[in-house]
Amino acid sequence: MFDNSETTGLSHLGEFGLIDHLTKNIELKQAGSLKGIGDDAAVLDFANKKVLVSTDMLLEGIHFDLAYTPFKHLGYKAIQVNLSDVYAMNGTPTQVTVSIGVSSKFPLEAIEELYQGIHIACEKYNVDLIGGDTSASKQGLVISVTVLGEADEKDIVYRNGAQEGDLLCVSGDLGGAYVGLQLLEREKLVYLENPKIQPDLEGKDYIVERQLKPDARKDVVELLKAWGVTPTSMIDVSDGLASEVLHICKQSDKGVQLYEEKIPIDPMTYETAREFGLDPTICALSGGEDYELLFTVKQADHDKIKHHPDISIIGYMTEASAGCNLVSKSGNVHKLTAQGWNAFKA
Ligand code: ADP
Ligand code: MG
Repeated sequence: MFDNSETTGLSHLGEFGLIDHLTKNIELKQAGSLKGIGDDAAVLDFANKKVLVSTDMLLEGIHFDLAYTPFKHLGYKAIQVNLSDVYAMNGTPTQVTVSIGVSSKFPLEAIEELYQGIHIACEKYNVDLIGGDTSASKQGLVISVTVLGEADEKDIVYRNGAQEGDLLCVSGDLGGAYVGLQLLEREKLVYLENPKIQPDLEGKDYIVERQLKPDARKDVVELLKAWGVTPTSMIDVSDGLASEVLHICKQSDKGVQLYEEKIPIDPMTYETAREFGLDPTICALSGGEDYELLFTVKQADHDKIKHHPDISIIGYMTEASAGCNLVSKSGNVHKLTAQGWNAFKA
């Protein structure tokens, strides 16, 4: 990716030089960011708001593969996955800290690109980068982001608030990030076998972007607010729909009827899954990394949300004793599990 003869080694800058270089042009936008980078700690003012805090760590080889992940996208995604957690609480993200472990195999230019992606995401979502930590790593790249956000206490939405009869809703479409990953993995293998062959991702932009460059659903949180709809429970879809639905059921002590035919799947996701011999529904249920919002609303709010093209009503909550069920397209009822889809396939 980077030709070492034309790049700058990290050792030229040293730790402080690197931090200065990466963070020199930051302008703080949030009124609550009293002090950002440059002292022993940042200083924040949340006035009378409640503070939301969440952290996600990304490790090379576990969460990302630099063979097909551009550094800029990686920086962008590292921020987005954290913002998504704050939106899933119905909050507003305000600041982030970014900590990196970098091996000397990476040139400065790579880390610059990583930070370009970080800065773009922060700008777009009006979030301040207020600190972090920088360390050498023996192997590979580690990125840990902590996001801070704010909300009025009455607006915070937990996973445990779903009530019997509530409608289960999801934003956007599902399974795309997983199918995009299958595509990238396949092209990586083709490339490793024959580096002369260029990756064939033609016409697959949407699902590749779903994997490499997800966007947290700020718009959905804002829409619901504008419509006067407060979800009774909410979670973001990072591990696959089935897993997230089960989290809501367990924490709310409720059951669910989830309808396979209502699960939103983009046509490109559908076709590409089929090309790989995968069941598109299973990609949506077990794939993950879609960073959509899964939430429940009261039935009384049905009319307010039913016509929105980007929100799908995929089921409803039941009493716990009714269990967590998936109703297949043919009308068969299956127990919803986070893995083990063989039974469903048959
Ligand atoms: P300390 O020795 O007190 O931990 P550092 O030298 O690590 O301080 O950091 C100096 C300043 O730069 C601090 O404000 C810290 O939050 C910030 N910082 C360090 N590393 C990063 C990074 N990777 N991204 C953003 N800010 C950073
Ligand atoms: Mg430090």
